[in-house]
Amino acid sequence: MTNRMFKTGESRDQASLLPPRIDDYVGSDNPVRAIESFVCALDLAKLGFRHADRAADEMGQPPYDPADLLKLYLYGYTNRVRSSRRLEQEASRNLELIWLLRNLRPGYRTIANFRKENWEALKAVNRSFVLLIRELGLVGGSVVAIDGSFFHGDASKASIFTRKRLAEQIAKLDQEIEAYGKSLEDNDAAEAEADRTDGPDVGGGDGGDLGAKVAELMAKRSCAQADLARLKESGETQLSLTDPDSRLLVKSGQGVAGYNVQIAVDDKHKLIVESDVVNDSSDVGQLHPMAKAAQDILEAETLQVLADEGYYSSLQLKACEDDGITAYVPVPEGRQLKKGRFALKDFSYDPAGDAYRCPAGELLRPMEGRWQNASGRIEIRYASRTRTCKACPLRSRCLSPKASLRTIARWEHEDVLDRHRARMQDAGELMRRRSGIVEHPFGTIKCRAGYRHFLVRGLNKVRGEWSLMALCYNFTRVLNILGFERFMDYLAKSLTWPCVLSRPT
Ligand code: SF4
Repeated sequence: MTNRMFKTGESRDQASLLPPRIDDYVGSDNPVRAIESFVCALDLAKLGFRHADRAADEMGQPPYDPADLLKLYLYGYTNRVRSSRRLEQEASRNLELIWLLRNLRPGYRTIANFRKENWEALKAVNRSFVLLIRELGLVGGSVVAIDGSFFHGDASKASIFTRKRLAEQIAKLDQEIEAYGKSLEDNDAAEAEADRTDGPDVGGGDGGDLGAKVAELMAKRSCAQADLARLKESGETQLSLTDPDSRLLVKSGQGVAGYNVQIAVDDKHKLIVESDVVNDSSDVGQLHPMAKAAQDILEAETLQVLADEGYYSSLQLKACEDDGITAYVPVPEGRQLKKGRFALKDFSYDPAGDAYRCPAGELLRPMEGRWQNASGRIEIRYASRTRTCKACPLRSRCLSPKASLRTIARWEHEDVLDRHRARMQDAGELMRRRSGIVEHPFGTIKCRAGYRHFLVRGLNKVRGEWSLMALCYNFTRVLNILGFERFMDYLAKSLTWPCVLSRPT
């Protein structure tokens, strides 16, 4: 029985026999040892890290070994420490890091520069780890889910201008300049009147203040005008002053100044097998590039790809089919369906007769000629007969009040969409699985790790930072799935026989 109220620590003056080696402070199954073994198995020169192939007899102060800085970043990103200043602090007080870096203490500038300068090499390491995952049999290689999520850039919404916003700003400045100009004229007139009547001074000092204010507004206007001209000349739609590549991205009414991160996730263990960062809010053009990249890295001849309706694009679906990729993407509801009128799915196509049959059982036959739509698709138009539609009881559910007949545009490769529509009929279970697969990585990275924004500026550097996030997500997950021992066993063998990490690319 103790009569102490609380547990007490040891006296700071008490002499003690601490373990004599740093290695004794790091447990034998500590994940930091997995980071050490993984980085040691990499061929950093082949992956493109700066200074990785430096000769020992080169002049000047030796730089830090890129392997040490990579270990520091892997440790940091798996432990929610990302900023270069925090990493610098941790390197001098965190025993695991002291062990990992053998008491090296790089400064924050060196740490920050490593992340900026080696963005391509970081992407290559991420790719190497995916190859390792594949070799370990942790991917199914038959079903992947694709999704995108917005991440904040290192820029505020106020620092990004669209043409419309610049034009509005110039118009507002014009109004203010006009108002100040009028005040200046009134002021001059009042002064002249006071001089003429020899009356009291009406405040000539204000005239000087007003003049300075007008000059300031004129300078702002010139800047806005120059920005607008730059935007028009470049053909871009937005101009970002802080981070030149971040963009105002809008989805479902929510706006973010940043980037759109695309991932392809294998369904077996929810591991990220392919990823990219773009600065476009729309996912429409991303389906085939992401699916093809996933297919290549998985070395899969055929692949099922699941995506949400934001990825729906007939051209992308055809590109997927041409490469042996079976895409499942919900068809967005057409405008006509939203207005309560029959949609394309209510009309059935008869390939033998080359005609559509409408809900009233009448035929829509092909018209003469071919049309090219706004997205470049070559289409054939099918039309009903005016006389039949005029007497049709379903007319109000089929035609707009001004239309006299119904037309349907059929793409020259519409059979691709017919097959897609047919397989989507039975894809309910697959589509339910999609959200479970793809939301796991984003949920873990954004909510558990708290990585909702990038710390670096510029698309390429952002891609490098994203590679670190994706790599650390996969790394932690693989350790959880395989267990420390099996993972270390594999890496130990890779030092004696060439694994994907050291094989020529
Ligand atoms: S309005 Fe014409 S196209 Fe539409 S259902 Fe009736 S007959 Fe068919």
